[in-house]
Amino acid sequence: MLFRSVSQSRYRTQPNPSMFKGHHATVDCPECHRIMVPRVITYYGQPTKSICPFCGTTFAQFPGGFQKLLSRFQSPRLTTAILNKLFIITLGFSLLWLVSNQISMSGQLSLIAFFGVALFGAALLAEILFQGIEYLAVKFSHDSKHYWLLIVMLSLTVMYLRDDMSGYIGVFFLILVLRGLIVGALQLLSPSC
Ligand SMILES: [Zn+2]
Repeated sequence: MLFRSVSQSRYRTQPNPSMFKGHHATVDCPECHRIMVPRVITYYGQPTKSICPFCGTTFAQFPGGFQKLLSRFQSPRLTTAILNKLFIITLGFSLLWLVSNQISMSGQLSLIAFFGVALFGAALLAEILFQGIEYLAVKFSHDSKHYWLLIVMLSLTVMYLRDDMSGYIGVFFLILVLRGLIVGALQLLSPSC
């Protein structure tokens, strides 16, 4: 960058004021209000801050290695507490279903167990999808709202194009709503997770 501007200036007699136009290379110093290019201060090759070359006021602070390390630990990860609970509940209903089928004592118990498996199994899958999307959004530092908006838009497009698919998509969103209710209830019961 510096090399190029030096070699260019050899062929130019007048300074070109539009050189940085639209590139935001210059800023207005918040302290002395002169138009300047912030100078980056480095410490062992790592940028620590940028200052105004006229008055020395700090213009921007750059996060150091330690701060970057901290923010990496603070970024949300897959919270397994809810997943574990949903898995255990689903497993419990599956066992109940198996047992009630084996001994065939009452059809009603088997039916309840079957619905338990279906409900909590669906919620478990929805929770995995939900957390997967949140995880991806954090990983690529996007807003997860955009991902959900994309999913809704895609679903609406598919519903518009394929009438026979709209039932499945309706069930999909119903499961997502159910997942929200179940996870909310689990979090109310145990505020630790
Ligand atoms: Zn200044």
